[in-house]
Amino acid sequence: MKLWVTPDGDRWLCDECLEQFREQMEEEQWRAPFERWDPMLRCSECRHGDVEIFD
Ligand SMILES: [Zn+2]
Repeated sequence: MKLWVTPDGDRWLCDECLEQFREQMEEEQWRAPFERWDPMLRCSECRHGDVEIFD
């Protein structure tokens, strides 16, 4: 998951949601200072994690 610095604050976004924000991202010059692989992280948009956990 990548942590993006946006005008509205920092937000974690998964790759799928990233696609939806691509235009806004370019307009507002979002930056991704770091990427972290952590199954506990949740996307701020869809609330899903990087890893799907099945019971
Ligand atoms: Zn997402």
